[in-house]
Amino acid sequence: MASDPQSELRALIGHLRSYVLYHQQLGVEAFPRSPALSEDLKTVREELGDCRRCRLWETRKKIVFGKGNERARLVFVGEAPGYEEDIQGIPFIGKAGQLLTRIIAAIGMKRDEVYLTNVVKCHPPRNRVPAHDEVACCYPFLARQLRIIRPQVICALGSAAARTLLNTEAGITTLRGTFRDWEGIPVMPTFHPAFLLRSPDRKRETWEDMQALQRHLAGENR
Ligand code: URA
Repeated sequence: MASDPQSELRALIGHLRSYVLYHQQLGVEAFPRSPALSEDLKTVREELGDCRRCRLWETRKKIVFGKGNERARLVFVGEAPGYEEDIQGIPFIGKAGQLLTRIIAAIGMKRDEVYLTNVVKCHPPRNRVPAHDEVACCYPFLARQLRIIRPQVICALGSAAARTLLNTEAGITTLRGTFRDWEGIPVMPTFHPAFLLRSPDRKRETWEDMQALQRHLAGENR
């Protein structure tokens, strides 16, 4: 019987190794990344349905669930769909989205390699910041999206995304530039591209954040 934490850990690793070897001998080639989660993004979208969980349904045109690679190494989380996104049902296709596409290209990636989504899936009228109760209604769906994809890094775009994921009231200027954590996944908060369009002098900081994120992706294999 293991008596101290180190011996317990060694014993645990030993058991795990035997377990994996046993399954290999049975012909098992891979284990699902989250054995408890057999759901996929399609299931989550179906459960969201024609959502009326908060008042945003009254004014939205289309639900903007998310778009991209279900096995993405990098997920961008924005605040809420804008006017264009509301019409087409696709995230980040307006002016801010075009800047985000250039940011993604600058780190050597394509839009369809990453996954794009928002804290709330419906356009708030007059682009207002989503209210706490609206975020609370949508958060379980965002969390399920992130648990399914389990990317290597999440990039939180702007205060709403960073505050929601990191469960803090701190602002983006304080949070940006440092890796944080969401359920064991590193989160890099940075400025929202819509803010960068209004304050282009802050692009340099976002570039630094993106370079840190790129280094993180380069340093790890999945
Ligand atoms: N801004 C966001 O936060 N998300 C979008 O999808 C578009 C603009």
